[in-house]
Amino acid sequence: MTQKQRRIYRKACALLARSTPLRADCGVLCGRACCRGDDETGMLLFPGEATTLAVKAKNGRRVAVCGGRCKRALRPLSCRVFPFVPLPQTNGKIAVLPDGRGYGICPLVRHAEEAAFSHRFLHRVKRAGALLCRDKACRAFLQEIGREAAACESLRAQLFEK
Ligand code: SF4
Ligand code: SF4
Repeated sequence: MTQKQRRIYRKACALLARSTPLRADCGVLCGRACCRGDDETGMLLFPGEATTLAVKAKNGRRVAVCGGRCKRALRPLSCRVFPFVPLPQTNGKIAVLPDGRGYGICPLVRHAEEAAFSHRFLHRVKRAGALLCRDKACRAFLQEIGREAAACESLRAQLFEK
């Protein structure tokens, strides 16, 4: 991790330390489905992102494996923005979109149009995205996962909305 990334991650993590997708605890809707990890599944780590969790390599990327438990104050960035992804746009702005990769897990992704998301949370995800984009590797990473999230959403629409 570079010094610049260290500074950016610290600020992005602080921004998303307490904000949650809904004003109430969304975990009661789904039994904390996104935290029911096992020894194989996990959350993608940003380039060089440090973690106290076990790290595995998966498809050329690093994944933090938590087994469904972590110190919340130290959770990875991917956990902090879920179920959204901040996506850098060609006009320099950041779009905050539901993460299509979470469709099978998260009721908020499945019902994104009706959910009463916290504006504070969305705003903070956007600010964190803008911060992360100051680093070239993080920006490329966000673009990559954005493409994957969009591809998942497109596939889901083709399969289920015919
Ligand atoms: S799966 Fe979605 S609704 Fe459930 S705890 Fe995670 S973010 Fe909240
Ligand atoms: S690291 Fe923590 S917040 Fe992230 S999925 Fe695991 S238990 Fe949930």
